[in-house]
Amino acid sequence: MKPKLNPGNDELFFLPLGGAGEIGMNLNLYGHDGQWLMVDLGITFAGPELPGVDVLMPDPRFIVERREQLVGLMLTHAHEDHIGAVPYLWSQLRCPIYATPFTRSMVERKLKEAGLYEAAPITEIPMSGRFSVGHFEIELITLTHSIPEPNAVVIHTPAGNVLHTGDWKLDDDPLVGDTFDEARLKALADEDVLAMVCDSTNALNAEETGSESEVREHLMELVGGLEQRVAIACFASNVARFETIVRAAEAHGRRVALLGRSMHRIHEAARENGYMPDLPPFLSEKDIDYLPRNEVLLLCTGSQGEPRSALWRIAHGDHREVHLDEGDAVIFSSRVIPGNETSIFALQNTLVKRGIQVITDDDAFIHVSGHPGRPELAQMYQWVRPRVAVPVHGEQRHLTAHAELARECQVPEQIAGENGALIRLAPGRAKVIDQVQTGRLAVEGSRLLSTESPILRERQRMAYNGAAAVTLALNAKGTLVDEPQLTFHGVYDDDLDEDQIDDVLDAIEQAIQSLRPAERRDDASVAEAVRVAVRRSVKRDLEKKPVTTVHVVRLESDRVPLKQ
Ligand SMILES: [Zn+2]
Ligand SMILES: [Zn+2]
Repeated sequence: MKPKLNPGNDELFFLPLGGAGEIGMNLNLYGHDGQWLMVDLGITFAGPELPGVDVLMPDPRFIVERREQLVGLMLTHAHEDHIGAVPYLWSQLRCPIYATPFTRSMVERKLKEAGLYEAAPITEIPMSGRFSVGHFEIELITLTHSIPEPNAVVIHTPAGNVLHTGDWKLDDDPLVGDTFDEARLKALADEDVLAMVCDSTNALNAEETGSESEVREHLMELVGGLEQRVAIACFASNVARFETIVRAAEAHGRRVALLGRSMHRIHEAARENGYMPDLPPFLSEKDIDYLPRNEVLLLCTGSQGEPRSALWRIAHGDHREVHLDEGDAVIFSSRVIPGNETSIFALQNTLVKRGIQVITDDDAFIHVSGHPGRPELAQMYQWVRPRVAVPVHGEQRHLTAHAELARECQVPEQIAGENGALIRLAPGRAKVIDQVQTGRLAVEGSRLLSTESPILRERQRMAYNGAAAVTLALNAKGTLVDEPQLTFHGVYDDDLDEDQIDDVLDAIEQAIQSLRPAERRDDASVAEAVRVAVRRSVKRDLEKKPVTTVHVVRLESDRVPLKQ
């Protein structure tokens, strides 16, 4: 018998639709007593395998189909992989949103841009707040991460309590905001934690992650030793790092210019919520050139080599106001996110070629991760003592290493989350009771498309093989009354490859001539024969099969046929 997907009042379900088996686009669902609670709704960035697509998100179909059972969306923190899909998917969900003040500011900016500000109100929850949503009682516990206000969410239900950690590390001096609430985490163990659903990003790292305060010391020293203009790229959302960079500039007599829209956005959202209250005024882009080179520091977006980002434009001499020259330095106070190697190294090569010094976290201690290494994970298991460990927020290798670590930490049960796996946490032993349909949606221009859609598959094929379009003018009998019109895109050069194009034209004519009379009178038969002929001809020449479209136009038979 198929298990029911509607959670009973003695049951507690966990269902990740995104972010389990991958790092990015988190979407978690908890089910109890006929209701569902969503935790986080994020995006991920597409690689080159999907031409024309930048942003991906989980397919929320499962919960959209039972929308009336969805009681709310709790956002743990303001990183894109946790909030980025809210403006794209909220209209399909239409549920209340809950967030702490900084996260609320960040999401509201997105909703405004999407024209959803009025429709999708956010209920602000204070740090360490406790409130009820449907049958779920929610409690926030302050953690530390690489953005202000990272919250773990305790979900209290009569069927059991879950600690959903969100993203975290243990930083006892995070510079911005409070440190992690150790007392509350320890006290949780007395309340019987059924399951801990936990960040696995750094489950392969043997070392503790390290503190933002150590990065501050090293960046201060590094900036002090540089003599020309300095640009620093970092993740804009890391407000502690942002402040560190401004302090380092201040300490060494440099004024800071903010470059890139997200730098300004984060600065505004941070100030709105009382973070970084006493920063010196920023330098406007226009005034940079009036100051000596050693009195300027540029704080830029573009640490991942993103094309058109502030740093990318400066590196390519393509920025209206800002220039770097030989002897200047660019510091990457960030890490290489897997998948971005090519664009980052290309950007760094461009800078080096121009005589600009590039300094990365290989050269100096100028970046720490926001996720827990193995000693921190072990510490958390010791405090919380859950019955079940559910590793999420990691690729398969991270999830497996994390589950193994939880076993070593004497957690009785481990069950790795996988997108679409419906896990029944209670009653009884935790187990996967069903696999629900999941997938990814791609932002394609102004619409959302499934990554499985034939449109995107065709786009991929066109990007790889190029395309051809043929128009055939035939009379009723199926004889060509004019030369076939043949256009290639991304296959041949019209001027240089005339011979090859002529070969294709010959193949088209032969294909038509070899058809039986009845087939020649049928548009579909003619089109298919010609499509196959074009692809075969190009394949023989180039080992490529272009995406080929054939249009058949029937003309009045009184025109003189081209060939009998
Ligand atoms: Zn995060
Ligand atoms: Zn994350």
